[in-house]
Amino acid sequence: MKPSLYGNNLESLNHWLSSNGHSKNQGEVLFRYLFNGEKDNIRPQFSNKMLKDLEESFSKRLPIPSSTQTAKDGTIKFLMKMEDGEEVESVLIPFYKKYTLCISSQVGCAMNCDFCYTGTMGLKRNLKAGEIVGQYMYAVKYLRSLKSNEPLPNIVMMGMGEPLHNFDEVKRALEILTHEKSYALSPRQITLSTVGYLPGLKRWHEMPPVNLALSLHSPVKEIRDQLIPVNRGYPLPEVMEVLEAVPLHHRQVITYEYLLISGLTDRDEDAHKLAKILIGKKAMINLIPFNPYPGSAYKKPSTSDVVRFKSILVSYKLMTMVRTTKGDEILAACGQLKAKTQDPLQ
Ligand code: SAH
Repeated sequence: MKPSLYGNNLESLNHWLSSNGHSKNQGEVLFRYLFNGEKDNIRPQFSNKMLKDLEESFSKRLPIPSSTQTAKDGTIKFLMKMEDGEEVESVLIPFYKKYTLCISSQVGCAMNCDFCYTGTMGLKRNLKAGEIVGQYMYAVKYLRSLKSNEPLPNIVMMGMGEPLHNFDEVKRALEILTHEKSYALSPRQITLSTVGYLPGLKRWHEMPPVNLALSLHSPVKEIRDQLIPVNRGYPLPEVMEVLEAVPLHHRQVITYEYLLISGLTDRDEDAHKLAKILIGKKAMINLIPFNPYPGSAYKKPSTSDVVRFKSILVSYKLMTMVRTTKGDEILAACGQLKAKTQDPLQ
């Protein structure tokens, strides 16, 4: 299969041009045309020879949805089909006046978290940068077909997969999306969430300076081991030490996602222990009430338990938010993403 045209950053396009005997001057125009053509209304004149060579070297196919579902709250879930037939989910979530696109980084996931629907399918393969960027390109096209002046969505790398387990392709995708000649997204508009995958976190400085979120979920070693099995190899205290060294701009914080599971992670003592870990750090806590899915073993907390847990954290003056569940009726909420990979005819 040919590599995707949309997995090229400016450097690799320039490299391709010069090694195929074309003028490097066209690299920037081509890059802008690919990712920004519509907005800039550019109609550049490329030589027929170059267009033919491009066609031979790269695939121009974007991921296409095999289904699109819209929930009553406005959340739109796409099941995106890749060129080899594998499927991942991308979810557009309305947030104030614009959307946020939740992007997948892998087909399935190797982390095997005990509470996560995607985890039950295991890792099928990594996505290529072009497939990650392609999810964004498709979502922008879709939104603009509904409303031509729709602002560019923000991005959360919180779909299927562990983004730091597919470091190089995710890095390249984020470089393309934030490039000033492409969508020119500010790194502040992008948040990447990780389970605390240390081999990737140790290379964090190589990424464009996007926001970082850690799925913390429990301050108790045994419980975190059970929920996030990679905690056994990459324990939370080591992860926190690496996070401590992440440079943050003025007013930038690290987001700590905390899954509230009834009776397991939502006890008062958990809140106090969590507070002890995060006090004095530039931290924002995002409480996520567990979203049940077919066959899940855990229970979601009651609203009063969420309020009680939050108020303990707030008593330590920790910035705390509760993530409102969006799109759950179409299984598009956190941890509910799992492509329907079974062919009903087989
Ligand atoms: N692998 C990365 C990216 C996925 S982000 C990570 O784990 O951080 C998705 C977020 O949703 C993570 O915080 C994840 O722990 C959380 N999540 C997974 N399953 C969930 C569920 N059933 N209910 C609520 N949140 C869930």
